[in-house]
Amino acid sequence: MSLLERTTAQYRSLRLTAAASGLPDLLAEAEQQELSYLDFAQRLVDHEISVRTCTRIERHLKQAQFPAEKPLESFDYRHQTTITKRQVNALLDFGFIDQRQNLVFIGPPGVGKTHLAIGIGQKAVQAGYKILFRTALALIEELELAEMKGELKKRLSQLAKCDVIIIDELGYLPMTRQARYNLFQLINSLYEYRSIILTTNKDFTAWGEFFHDDNVAVPIIDRIIHHSHIFMLGGESYRLKQKTTA
Ligand code: ADP
Ligand code: MG
Repeated sequence: MSLLERTTAQYRSLRLTAAASGLPDLLAEAEQQELSYLDFAQRLVDHEISVRTCTRIERHLKQAQFPAEKPLESFDYRHQTTITKRQVNALLDFGFIDQRQNLVFIGPPGVGKTHLAIGIGQKAVQAGYKILFRTALALIEELELAEMKGELKKRLSQLAKCDVIIIDELGYLPMTRQARYNLFQLINSLYEYRSIILTTNKDFTAWGEFFHDDNVAVPIIDRIIHHSHIFMLGGESYRLKQKTTA
């Protein structure tokens, strides 16, 4: 076994797999560029770290389960003028996540609520946060299933492991009493502990009606809007615009 093979194997045994596989190229590069020993040592560890970071981000992107790629770069602020690029960019230092605050996008269909939620979520993953995307409907079904199996508590604590849960399209469909109760349990377990990005077509004034004014509606709304950035979006549906200009 050559010295290179032995060194590579030792790196692997320490789980420095990127350093191990990159070693031959990095050695060649160091020789060619006549790098100092310290520079070489630095490049090797840099390589390991950047490969690990990429792998982690890729894993988090998969785990987030975004329904589509919606890069913020493709969001057109000339069409959507009820929110500014500056307002959105101000969120990208992710202070809202660190401070366990929520984002709420309210507005009629097609105005870009889901696009913004996913775009911000994807940027947050790049920045190292763990995100989970769920439509309100899927989330409610998931909680219902867990509740039926007697595993609601377990599921809630799993959900609370990510930094942000995106709840998309709350308010489009009515919910059963049990569903509202389960949702309340979730919101409660995330409150001041994790962030929520919520999109909804319902203004808060209509939420009471949506939740049938029962005793969990008010605390759900209260916990979501306490510590939250609320964006009221308006304007034409982007889908409609595309139809009419196509
Ligand atoms: P909402 O969630 O408000 O109903 P979406 O975010 O799903 O609306 O937007 C509908 C479609 O239009 C999506 O494909 C989205 O990417 C696109 N869209 C909406 N607003 C914009 C915008 N301002 N710039 C670019 N695409 C947009
Ligand atoms: Mg939507």
